[in-house]
Amino acid sequence: MTRFSFDLHATDGAARTGTITTPRGDIRTPAFMPVGTAGTVKAMLPESVRATGADILLGNTYHLMLRPTAERIDRLGGLHKFMNWQRPILTDSGGFQVMSLAGLRKLTERGVTFKSHIDGSIHDLTPERSMEIQRLLDSDIVMCFDECPALPATDDEVAKSMRLSMRWAQRSKDAFGDRPGHALFGIQQGGVTEHLRAESAEALKSIGFDGYAVGGLAVGEGQEAMFGVLDYAPAMLPADRPRYLMGVGKPDDIVGAVKRGIDMMDCVLPSRSGRTGQAFTRHGVVNIKNARHADDPRPLDENCGCPACSSYSRAYLHHVFRAREMISGMLLTWHNLHYFQDIMAGMRDAIAAGAFDAWEAEFHAARAQGDIAPI
Ligand SMILES: [Zn+2]
Repeated sequence: MTRFSFDLHATDGAARTGTITTPRGDIRTPAFMPVGTAGTVKAMLPESVRATGADILLGNTYHLMLRPTAERIDRLGGLHKFMNWQRPILTDSGGFQVMSLAGLRKLTERGVTFKSHIDGSIHDLTPERSMEIQRLLDSDIVMCFDECPALPATDDEVAKSMRLSMRWAQRSKDAFGDRPGHALFGIQQGGVTEHLRAESAEALKSIGFDGYAVGGLAVGEGQEAMFGVLDYAPAMLPADRPRYLMGVGKPDDIVGAVKRGIDMMDCVLPSRSGRTGQAFTRHGVVNIKNARHADDPRPLDENCGCPACSSYSRAYLHHVFRAREMISGMLLTWHNLHYFQDIMAGMRDAIAAGAFDAWEAEFHAARAQGDIAPI
């Protein structure tokens, strides 16, 4: 049986490119993972998500445990079969979304008790229960159950929360057990405080994980503060394991994170923005609802090979958005996911060629140029 492994092919500065091998297929890094919150990347068929170049999807433990429940997905053959995606899936631990979505939370050493945002029912989530749910989902990459303090927080609060997460990381590892072909990732916490990040990294390394996430970022601290942490945090984690930055981000966040040594990222942005009429392009964000597109026969991006750009005009995309037709969200989501995967492929090639700086300069120059002038 194929085991989970990570091979680094090349580095360029702190940027890295490699391959994560899993029994369900390879993941080329740097990798962007589209988010399939409730067993679907909204507005996309799984084969279309694959066609954009995605090697792996993210599933949300919090949503799936509430509806349709992990036990039901297990009875129906696991999440891959249930949602018709046979390639790797990473699941989060549920911790972050309990904090952001659920009501009436009670946090103790044992775990979290919360009220479902769907029907008000009461649930428990502990490191042990999170490992059980992610096993029932048959996730390929399992995340440790952790706590992310609400910002702003004092150093003392961040330290206390981080140490709780490190005790939960040990309990996650114990509950995960030995599952060949499946990986468990630890999550570094410590806010924006360097010595707490270091303490967290040491605690995780002494437990030992298949990969390591930089957690607690992309929670409203801003790009400058996030890059500030990424200037030192990835280097604290083992170089021979994948490094995952959770919940990032906008195209320039992604590029800046890869430049600082991140291998994997996920974000709802390309799919969520696609449903609200926002397209990410080489020249920045295009709001397709703007009247300037109403008579424009040109594609969103003439150099993009996605179906939205190959076969439809800006005028059509504008019309279906205004008419609230479902194809609007479908086409713009497809374009956005395609564009995000294009960025990843471009960075992988550039790192392999030792030309990341030149690629990055071109990326920023194209954005600075702005959208094509109205007709
Ligand atoms: Zn396109």
